[in-house]
Amino acid sequence: MSTSSLLMKQRRMASSVSRQILQRRRIATTAVGCRLTDASLGVSRSAPGGLSTSARFGGSNNRVSAYSSRFFSTFLDDYRQHTEERSAMAEGYGVAPNPLSAEQVSALIEDLRKADSNHEELVALLVHRVPPGVDEAAYVKATWLSALAKNEETSPYISRERAVELLGTMQGGYNVQTLIDLLEDSDAAIADLAADQLSHTLLVFESFYDIEALHKNGCKPATKVLESWANAEWFLKKPEVPEVMTATVFKVTGETNTDDLSPAQDAWSRPDIPLHAVAMLKNTREGIEPIKDGEIGPLHQIKELQEKGFPLAYVGDVVGTGSSRKSATNSVLWFMGEDIPHVPNIKSGGLCLGGKIAPIFFNTMEDSGALPIELDVNDLGMGDVIDVYPYEGKVTNHETGAVITEFELKTPVIMDEVRAGGRIPLIIGRGLTSKARVALGQGEAVADIFRMPALPEGAKAPEGFTLAQKMVGKACGLPDGEGIVPGQYCEPKMTTVGSQDTTGPMTRDELRSLACLGFTADLVMQSFCHTAAYPKPVDVITHHTLPDFIETRGGVALRPGDGIIHSWLNRMLLPDTVGTGGDSHTRFPIGISFPAGSGLVAFGAATGIMPLDMPESVLVRFSGTMQPGVTLRDLVQAIPYTALQMGLLTTEKKGKKNIFSGRILEIEGLPDLKCEQAFELSDASAERSAAGCTIKLNKEPIIEYLNSNVVMLKWMISEGYGDARTLERRIARMEEWLADPVLMEADEKAEYSTVIDINLDELKEPVLALPNDPDASALLSEVAGNKIDEVFIGSCMTNIGHFRAAGKLLKNLANPIPTRLWIAPPTKMDEAQLIEEGYYSIFGVAGARTEMPGCSLCMGNQARVAPKSTCVSTSTRNFPNRLGQGADVYLASAELAAVASIEGELPSVETYLKYMDDVNATADDTYRYLNFDELPNFVKSADSVEISAEMRDAAKKLDMAE
Ligand code: SF4
Repeated sequence: MSTSSLLMKQRRMASSVSRQILQRRRIATTAVGCRLTDASLGVSRSAPGGLSTSARFGGSNNRVSAYSSRFFSTFLDDYRQHTEERSAMAEGYGVAPNPLSAEQVSALIEDLRKADSNHEELVALLVHRVPPGVDEAAYVKATWLSALAKNEETSPYISRERAVELLGTMQGGYNVQTLIDLLEDSDAAIADLAADQLSHTLLVFESFYDIEALHKNGCKPATKVLESWANAEWFLKKPEVPEVMTATVFKVTGETNTDDLSPAQDAWSRPDIPLHAVAMLKNTREGIEPIKDGEIGPLHQIKELQEKGFPLAYVGDVVGTGSSRKSATNSVLWFMGEDIPHVPNIKSGGLCLGGKIAPIFFNTMEDSGALPIELDVNDLGMGDVIDVYPYEGKVTNHETGAVITEFELKTPVIMDEVRAGGRIPLIIGRGLTSKARVALGQGEAVADIFRMPALPEGAKAPEGFTLAQKMVGKACGLPDGEGIVPGQYCEPKMTTVGSQDTTGPMTRDELRSLACLGFTADLVMQSFCHTAAYPKPVDVITHHTLPDFIETRGGVALRPGDGIIHSWLNRMLLPDTVGTGGDSHTRFPIGISFPAGSGLVAFGAATGIMPLDMPESVLVRFSGTMQPGVTLRDLVQAIPYTALQMGLLTTEKKGKKNIFSGRILEIEGLPDLKCEQAFELSDASAERSAAGCTIKLNKEPIIEYLNSNVVMLKWMISEGYGDARTLERRIARMEEWLADPVLMEADEKAEYSTVIDINLDELKEPVLALPNDPDASALLSEVAGNKIDEVFIGSCMTNIGHFRAAGKLLKNLANPIPTRLWIAPPTKMDEAQLIEEGYYSIFGVAGARTEMPGCSLCMGNQARVAPKSTCVSTSTRNFPNRLGQGADVYLASAELAAVASIEGELPSVETYLKYMDDVNATADDTYRYLNFDELPNFVKSADSVEISAEMRDAAKKLDMAE
């Protein structure tokens, strides 16, 4: 059986296992949807599963209340005013108005029901300014259009036929059931028109089977839909990628990270794409002149370039490093992409040319329908007008035709992705074409139409597989011991998916546009760690609305103040499984994760799979014994330190070398690490721009971790966290693994692109990351004596042991410390335990500022260090301006950070080791981890929780399917 057949079989099995669960979730969702819309909008809601054909506004057909028959709402005036206000924003450069909300669509429809001289404007707003999918505004729009399409209501401005056509522009979700119903309409022309609309609708999910059933019953329009899908008309009717694309270069020299494109301080505006885009490149840098430094980006430069009459191409030396935020892509495409018909405030398409494009950014560009190309950009300058020949692989000067540079596309499939409007529509559509062919009795293959992902030329089966290759192989349904080879396209099952709060609202929008009403991924978790401590009003709204959105789809929602996404999500993992997350530090210490942008995360959560071009692996092999005073954090930094010495990594942005970029970092030689410690290593693989990370661990630490985590998840249920059934199912799966704990291992003959050996016997002092690049590394002796103003101990790189170590170093100080010290534990459980053990009292006496559990300074959007200060931080990355404007930040261990806070400078190695003698003397007490199965309060709560037979059964079936 081919890999794709295996995958399809596996998905079918998973789908049947989870169908019952999803059905229940859908019902729950509908109930909540009713609560959200019915009360506030006056919409009569359908039975679960589809729109009521009698959905009406204000009662019976065309019935208008006495009040509303005489008065129009203020909607149009309000919206015009809003549009005017937005057009005056950004120093007069203007920001597109918001899409319509559900309440506004409701008011618009009420106004449209009356004879209104503004009807053209109102219809245009209805057609163009309502988000598609399962947005609440889309629900209101689809409900009314359904009433018109089914002749239950009439409008002088929107005919029945036009209503059907407009339903066809809504991409999926609330429009689908009505269009399916219309396939059986007594008016053959309407049934035919509905079939035309469904033919280009891809987000039909399980409704496919309703159409298949109609086809089997002899419904000709249903057969027409299946035939259209089977012939891939949805794809072939779109224009091909042109032979030549003319563009004006928007050049950003050096490295652009996602924080430059979508600054953390502006995270609150990310779901408002046009407004957020204003902050792109807001800090002055070579060649970039913001119109308001630190606030508004180079809008005048963009405008001037646009006036040349061609689309802009984003061009950079190194593009998109850093976090997985899709908002960075959204901002670039807002200025350089194309409008999507009927979809307000988001753009698609566009060109992104980079000497190096970070893998996650490359993927989010692909997902958005852009064409990212890696090529030599040295001879492309700001304002140049170029012709890009995507098939021929060359860039020429638009005027002279002279060849400037040449390239090869990463894969020819990318041309189909651009044509389809993005990688995600392509995958969904290709699957639909395949499914329709099977339904019509044809084969499932679709290679006659699409460029299919293939093994790279000359690739052969390796003699052995790495741990990552085996884990992904298992998630793709391959037999035990087999793996996915590098370069092979695959669609691994997403067992665990994480989402945090600054990308969560975007993931929510993507889920809505994917018409997702229930997750297929087994466990989806949402955190609130990035915004809980210092929320803006928009964050508070997210805190109130996002949990419900996640839980009604079967996900698990944390609460503001609970702590950092990874410190929780890691405790929900299953060994040797695959997942993803909308945070670039979603790097599992057990199993493997491929973090992604919000579009792909939503896709993974909604469909339970993720597209992946299997990356190569780099093996980092530790040997020897850890030397006194050297911490695990030093081993983290020893990886880039060693790679720099070996010439496998450079810190120069121009022509940067990075052996880890886009590859999987596989770490061996530290098998007895606790899982909390292992995460320090995997977490930092994000800073290496690695695609993922595995850590080879022995069974014992994983058994210890899972025993603790089972109690924690039961405690969560007892504390009222939802979705309880998802938590129950995960507990049951953990217990199944614990009953027969078997771990995968890399084959002896596994092949790696590079092997880096690090001998711990030779590492005798701490290693730090230098300001302001997490790759730039130095030994403590090289930087000792440098003055330090502020110190941050926190982030997902820390665990409770680090805070005890810091507490022990700060204890017994005679004088207040000369620095500002910030302390932020990763979770509220760490905080409670540290308070109980008296460490908060020590921090208080030392003058430390203790922060709410969460990301705190690491995120850079909350409290910040003083501008231009020099700091030591235990956080993950020290990109310029992340912790504070113009601050210089060293990254180091919590132990070294604590010593620096006391000394007011980076200490000498001798001084540091002297301090560490104290910590080492009580190391067993210091480095104890939170084992919930040993904490009486947690055990007591957990004992009150029973796992239902239904969820145990579901867990078993899911395990068998994997
Ligand atoms: S602590 Fe920092 S790296 Fe970790 S999740 Fe929060 S912001 Fe991201």
